[in-house]
Amino acid sequence: MKKDKKARKEKVKKEKTNLLKRAVSSIQTKIALIFMLLLLATIEIIGAYFTRQMEQTSINNFQTTIQLQSIVTDQLTAQLVKNGKSADRKMNQIITDYSNDAISEIQVVDSKNVIRAVSNLNDKNRVGQLSNNGDIREVINSGQQKTQVASDQKGSFMVQIVPLTSGTNIVGAVYVRASMADVFNNLRNISMMFLTASLLAVVVAAIASIFISRAITRPIEELRQQAIQVANRDYSTQVKIYSNDELGQLGAAFNTLSAKIERSNEQSESERRRLDSVLSHMTDGVIATDRHGNVSIMNQMAQDFLDVKAEDAIKKPISQVLGLGEDYTSQDLISNQSDMQVTVNAGTDDEMILHASFTLIKRVTGFVSGAVCVLHDVTEQIKNEDEQRQFVSNVSHELRTPLTSVRAYIEALNEGAWKDPEIAPQFLDVTQKETERMIRMVNDLLVLSRMDRGATKLEPEWVNFTDFVSHLLNRFDMIVEHDQGEAQSDTKEYVIKRDLGNQALWVEIDTDQMMRVIDNIMNNAIKYSPDGGTITVRLTQNQNQILLSISDQGLGIPRKDLGKIFDRFYRADKARSRAQGGTGLGLAIAKEIVTAHGGRIWADSREGHGSTFYIALPYEPMDEEDEWDEV
Ligand code: ADP
Repeated sequence: MKKDKKARKEKVKKEKTNLLKRAVSSIQTKIALIFMLLLLATIEIIGAYFTRQMEQTSINNFQTTIQLQSIVTDQLTAQLVKNGKSADRKMNQIITDYSNDAISEIQVVDSKNVIRAVSNLNDKNRVGQLSNNGDIREVINSGQQKTQVASDQKGSFMVQIVPLTSGTNIVGAVYVRASMADVFNNLRNISMMFLTASLLAVVVAAIASIFISRAITRPIEELRQQAIQVANRDYSTQVKIYSNDELGQLGAAFNTLSAKIERSNEQSESERRRLDSVLSHMTDGVIATDRHGNVSIMNQMAQDFLDVKAEDAIKKPISQVLGLGEDYTSQDLISNQSDMQVTVNAGTDDEMILHASFTLIKRVTGFVSGAVCVLHDVTEQIKNEDEQRQFVSNVSHELRTPLTSVRAYIEALNEGAWKDPEIAPQFLDVTQKETERMIRMVNDLLVLSRMDRGATKLEPEWVNFTDFVSHLLNRFDMIVEHDQGEAQSDTKEYVIKRDLGNQALWVEIDTDQMMRVIDNIMNNAIKYSPDGGTITVRLTQNQNQILLSISDQGLGIPRKDLGKIFDRFYRADKARSRAQGGTGLGLAIAKEIVTAHGGRIWADSREGHGSTFYIALPYEPMDEEDEWDEV
């Protein structure tokens, strides 16, 4: 708590000093201060000059006022020359008459430095005494008038000593002393008036300068505020134009600048948004890097492809983000600019192969500022190419085997076996079977190729699936009966167990195609069950699908092959399949057909115990009303 209070106090103090510092350093204060200083200096100079001049003039004037007129000095000279008591009286009379308010004392001293007359009655006793004033003696000796201003405890006064000359002889001197109190009082009063007027002028100037500087700085302050707003991308307000002077023009120019910045900002913003939306809707991944190869932008697709978040990848080397490890440095990737393939999640089910192409970003000057890497998902393409290669190799292989054996039999027949009544029909039979198998295979391949091209269109019709399967199984029952009736050696005894239920299950299917699927599975069940056995056909349904399962008690399928038996030419047991005349394409076709119906086909098996094939088809149960309509 105490610490908090202290910190708060310190903060307030800091804010205050900041405010003070800002106030002192503000242009407004500076202008006011300069203005006042200039005024003060002017007043001081004028004042000093004026008072000095006044003082000089006043002293001169005063000197003129007390200057003894020549008539008086002539009279005094005449009396001094006369000498004697009456002359002294006369002189006393003259100086007493001459004395005025300003003159406080007049003395007449003869050439022997003896005081002969005084204007001041109190000094009467000094008459006849020697004057001890050095200045008077000096004037008598030099014959030069002397005027000086001095001061004692009574105040300032002016002393004027005028030599009295008769012809070329100096007969004495007149000493005039006049108080200058009035003169200096006047001067003091004038100075006081001047000082008061100066102070008043300074105060008025201070107020005026504050107003003037505020008028100057207000637009500047507003400009500053506006600049801060523009820097914060707020273009809502404009600087107020107060006048058409330079500041007004600056304000107008700033408003234009701000509008231009806003426009160009909007443009670059919309440009950025467009680029963002292009990048985020691209089906290719895009990664941009700086010139060192560190990631700067990564679009959503690139993040999905590489399974990284943009924030985790930004600023990391692109080689690391692409998971290229030590093999490449980011600089290599950028400088080589060659295309390459990147495998993500290698060896897992999510393995993805990406084609990465690099392009440099260059400025107009040619300076490389970064690179763009475009990632294209080529997993499917490469898989398709592999499959296609595999398929061609499979077809060639599948056809070569029967063709080789057919050629061998025909060669044997040609070399004379045709003459052997026992071997010849056997050889011809094998040749025929192999040829038929090849024809079947080519036909199956044509069916698949049509499906691949999308040339096979389903011709769906509404059928009761229960009846449809039941009808199909009847055919197999008939084959069993027929085989048993014929008592052929290679017949297998098998029983078909039905668990179809009585409920009508209406689905929309292409009956010919679906028949082909079920036929193939039923035939396989028979083919791959050496000892016959029971084939159980079960039909169930739920709210959105029907499920047909066909189980046999045959060889079963190894677990590792379960997922592959629907691939083209894949056989769990090649020899047996061939011996049975199989093509390895039946289940592949079945899968294509079921998928085209929006359904799913899969198998489950225990090796040596039998297999179950499942077909799930989409189904929508009809409500009672519909069924009623149907009836
Ligand atoms: P084929 O013409 O070889 O029968 P299919 O595509 O119909 O071709 O079947 C692919 C492979 O799946 C067969 O070669 C066989 O190995 C295996 N297979 C299919 N059905 C069964 C089954 N009911 N029991 C055991 N293996 C089966």
